[in-house]
Order: sequence, then C-alpha cells, then structure tokens
Amino acid sequence: MAAPAKLDLDGRPIKPMTICMIGAGGFIGSHLCEKILWETEHKILALDVYNDKIKHLLEGESLPWKGRIQFHRINIKHDSRLEGLIKMADLTINLAAICTPADYNTRPLDTIYSNFIDALPVVKYCSENNKRLIHFSTCEVYGKTIGSFLPKDSPLRQDPAYYILKEDTSPCIFGSIEKQRWSYACAKQLIERLIYGEGAENGLEFTIVRPFNWIGPRMDFIPGVDGPSEGVPRVLACFSNALLRHEPLKLVDGGQSQRTFIYIKDAIEAVLLMIENPARANGQIFNVGNPHNEVTVRQLAEIMTEVYSKVSGEAPLEVPTIDVSSKEFYGEGYDDSDKRIPDMTIINRQLEWNPKTSLWDLLDSTLTYQHKTYAEAVKKVMAKPTSS
Ligand code: NAD
Ligand code: UDP
Repeated sequence: MAAPAKLDLDGRPIKPMTICMIGAGGFIGSHLCEKILWETEHKILALDVYNDKIKHLLEGESLPWKGRIQFHRINIKHDSRLEGLIKMADLTINLAAICTPADYNTRPLDTIYSNFIDALPVVKYCSENNKRLIHFSTCEVYGKTIGSFLPKDSPLRQDPAYYILKEDTSPCIFGSIEKQRWSYACAKQLIERLIYGEGAENGLEFTIVRPFNWIGPRMDFIPGVDGPSEGVPRVLACFSNALLRHEPLKLVDGGQSQRTFIYIKDAIEAVLLMIENPARANGQIFNVGNPHNEVTVRQLAEIMTEVYSKVSGEAPLEVPTIDVSSKEFYGEGYDDSDKRIPDMTIINRQLEWNPKTSLWDLLDSTLTYQHKTYAEAVKKVMAKPTSS
C-alpha cells in the first residue's frame, strides 16, 4: 500500500512539485537539496556554477533519489537556458549571490550586479510565466539599529523597540555611500522592493526570506584548502580556520558587534514549510533566525575556542584572540551591523515554526564536522614550505 500523502499545515495533501533552485551548489542550497531529496517527493533542477557541495547527491547509480535531481552548470548572468528551466518548474528558489562581507567594500560593482542586476531576469521570468518565487534576501537590509544612534548611556538602548528587527515596521538604516559595506544590503533592498512591486502590480506569487546568520557544515571555505589562500570567508569559517591552524582568532574592531546564530538545519525546516505551504507563505517577508542565540563576536570566539578544544582534544592557546582594525582586516569602506535580533511574530503566526538548537549544540556539531573534514588537510598545507 502506498504511504499516505504528507499534509500541509492546513491538512491538505502536498502534491509533488518541480523546483528550480538557483545557487543550489552553495551552503544553503546544499542543505536544502538534501532536505528535499531525503524527506519529500519533489524534483530539483539544480542550477549553479559549482557543484562540489552537492556532489554526494548527484553521483552514484544506486542513490534512492536518482532522477529527482538534475544539475545544470549555469551562470545566470548570461545563459539563455534560464527562462526554459524556470518554465519547467512549479517554483523557483533564488539563492545565487555574492554574499561575503569581504567583497562588499572591495568588489562593490560585482556585489551590486550579483544581488540586483543578475536577479532581475529571474523575477521577470517568474512574473511573466506565473511561477512562484522564493527569493533569498538578507537580515542586512535592516542595516543598523535605531538604538545604535542613541547616546551610549541612554536607558532606551535597553528597550526592544529600539533594536528588535521586524519585517513590516523596522526601517532600513545604512551608512553613507563611501561606506561601501552597504552595497550588498542596498542591492538586496532594491530587489526586495522590485519583487514586492511585481506582487502588487502584476500578481507575482512571492516569498522573501531574510536569513539571520545561518551557520553549519559546508559554510564557505577554509583558505588554502578548498578556497583561495588570501580569501576572507564569513566569521564561522574565519574562526574555524584559525582554530584548525592553532592561531589566534581575529576580532574586528574589538568583536563588540552582536549577532544571533541559527543552525542551518533548523533554518531549512522553515524553508521547507514555505515551499509546502504556499497559501501561508505567498506575499510574506520572513525573518529566519534564532533570537535566543545572541552573542558578541568576542563571545562567539570564546565559545568556539572552548568547543573546538573539546572536539579536537587540543588545549586552547594561552592568548586565543587578537584585536584587528576593520581597515586592516577588510580595507577601506567597511562598516558593521551593530546588533541583529529577529522578531519572530510573522513566521510564528504563518508557519508555526520555531528554531530549536542552542548555540553550544550547533557549534559542537559544526566544529566536529570542521575538524573531521579539514584537520589533516590543514596540517599538510601548513607543513608545505612557503615560496618566498
Ligand atoms: P553561498 O555563497 O554558499 O551560495 C550561493 C551560491 O550561488 C554559490 O554556490 C554560487 O556559486 C551561486 N551563484 C552565485 N552567482 C551565480 C550565478 N551568477 N549563476 C549561478 N550561480 C551563482 O551562500 P549562502 O550562504 O548559501 O547564501 C544563499 C543566499 O542566502 C544568498 O542570496 C545570500 O545573500 C542569502 N543569505 C545567506 C545568509 C547566511 O546566513 N548564510 C545570510 C543572509 C543572506
Ligand atoms: N568578524 C571578526 N573576525 C573575523 C571575521 C568576522 O571579528 O575573522 C566579525 C565581523 O566584523 C562581523 C561579524 O564577525 O562583525 C560577522 O561577520 P560575517 O562575515 O559572518 O558576516 P555578517 O554577519 O557581518 O554579515
């Protein structure tokens, strides 16, 4: 007897669909592909320039999901196959982007083109062909908190009204134009407004996702091992790299900025709910984060040092962190988001979703993965004589 059909949140059977996933070979894409293939009947047209992070899903004759994922090596900047693939699917999910802060101030043009111009055809093809779109934006569209502009000793800084980030009421506050850090947030904000406009004027069925620091295995790269030696990935990979090399973790401008970190597997649960509950997700902008996992970057460094020592069995360095200026680390034009706590009202109400994993637990599983995957390779790289 066939298994009973899975039901959506309103008790309706979920029909298998074809999903065109752009940027499927990246960090989030690889976890989303796994989730869809392992737990649903949906098919994936996986588009990306790279496929290293989803190779385990593509290769092998006996994979149980064989035939449900098809990889297309496509650069969406210039490939005429894009519209055809969007037309073949019921839903398009766009993850493709340049999204590492080290690029925002040093490659502002590539950043703006990638996050705005290159996303335009995707929105247009979805709108013209009446296809649903789930577009990945960022929590960075909120920019700085209102509270950060108050005097340091103002008691209002403790009032959540001045720092909690809410989809439908918080303003988007960016720095001046010469602070090119904001090239990314600004491009993402404009594409959000365009998608919203397509919904309002042309009836596009859309959902916008604003991820708040999703972290876990396969995020970014370890410089000199599976990415460029001089590359600067996001903070999880920067700190992992230092721990693997037994070097101090670099704290930019004292590591005073605050972030809330969410385990990738919790966040992917929310995305699957959006995919399978269009009536509840269409027309919505969703914060997806874990408001309970807030730390300063300095605290993150301390916890990661402790967890890594447990995982690797190596004693931490006597001086585990060093301070660096943002100018030295990222170059001219860097700026920072001071604090990012997501309001969860809308996602709770629409999708009945809540994150589960504590910061300690998510770092424990992630650093166990980093150690198993990279420790030997890093040792080999470090043993090689450097060319002078
Ligand atoms: P990622 O860099 O790991 O993945 C992006 C993927 O898109 C990469 O595999 C890349 O090759 C692909 N891509 C980029 N340009 C492309 C092009 N022109 N054609 C085809 N493929 C292209 O990043 P991620 O962390 O998986 O992020 C995915 C999305 O989520 C991005 O839009 C990002 O802005 C957003 N986001 C992520 C986070 C997070 O916490 N990870 C936070 C905020 C926003
Ligand atoms: N950061 C740091 N040391 C590093 C890398 C990043 O102190 O080696 C800081 C960075 O300045 C920012 C925070 O960590 O305040 C998070 O950086 P990430 O690159 O993950 O992206 P963001 O959250 O800013 O989008």
